[in-house]
Amino acid sequence: MNLNDSRILVVGAGLMGAGIAQVAAQAGHDVALFDARAGAAEAAKAKLAQTLDGLVAKGRLDREAASAALARIRPVEALAPAGLVIEAIVENLEVKRALFAELEALLPDEAVIATNTSSISVTALARGMKKPGRLVGMHFFNPVPLMKLVEVVSGLGTAPEAAQAVFELAARWGKTPVHARSTPGFIVNRIARPYYAETLMLLQDRAATPEVIDACLRAAGFRMGPCELMDLIGHDTNFAVTNSVFAANFFDRRFTPSLVQQELVDAGFLGRKSGRGFYRYP
Ligand code: NAD
Repeated sequence: MNLNDSRILVVGAGLMGAGIAQVAAQAGHDVALFDARAGAAEAAKAKLAQTLDGLVAKGRLDREAASAALARIRPVEALAPAGLVIEAIVENLEVKRALFAELEALLPDEAVIATNTSSISVTALARGMKKPGRLVGMHFFNPVPLMKLVEVVSGLGTAPEAAQAVFELAARWGKTPVHARSTPGFIVNRIARPYYAETLMLLQDRAATPEVIDACLRAAGFRMGPCELMDLIGHDTNFAVTNSVFAANFFDRRFTPSLVQQELVDAGFLGRKSGRGFYRYP
């Protein structure tokens, strides 16, 4: 199986979907971009145009390559057939399952569906699909164009050739893919949850401010501190991931969600994307 020349449909034009569309288009694929929110795919494309202009201005991309990549991205008003679908919608099992059912009704038999889920079991997501073998986790990291790692996640029913095709595609895009079995949080989020949890406990204990915590971890060699990283990820997404990893680990205390993050979500202080999280963004 080879996905290297596939037409791609990216579903979800948020933080991750827009980045995935950019990377796929820069690698030469025709990309259809769909979002359930009217106008969101168009808006994502307009923002990508600015991002690509910025890369040209910094001398990191030539003008023709930027224009060609942008021209390959087509916002669409409805789901459309493709050889590879990359799903980057809300982190919710039922909503993702409903999308896969809709997709299977219109996709050709050989098409692969990749899910960018951060934490939901790929095994569970595939349940009820006509062809569960075609579902593969393709877990990118934020920001997608910069972060090299892609976890290629196989559920119990994932066809090995589908996982291998996704792995090879990610490598062709200049990413560093790794194979992982679908366990709660996969690899990186399993390690990252206690890191965020400990940070949130420090904040709850009023041991230090977000500024101080971030300064410590930066000084320790991290590129970003945990508070600014959570603001970048989005507290709604991060909180949903924590809840899902907590439940999937049979409510192991190590993964307990934090009231601090619950409050940020309740207030709509979702981080960079809403203009306010731990920090304020103009
Ligand atoms: P986001 O909120 O920025 O974007 C999600 C988009 O999906 C929204 O534009 C929304 O309108 C759209 N959407 C929701 N339901 C839909 C549906 N049924 N059909 C079509 N579009 C729909 O979220 P995000 O941060 O881009 O996260 C998307 C996925 O990627 C989640 O599964 C998340 O766990 C995963 N992920 C996120 C990060 C991160 O750092 N934010 C990192 C890795 C993986």
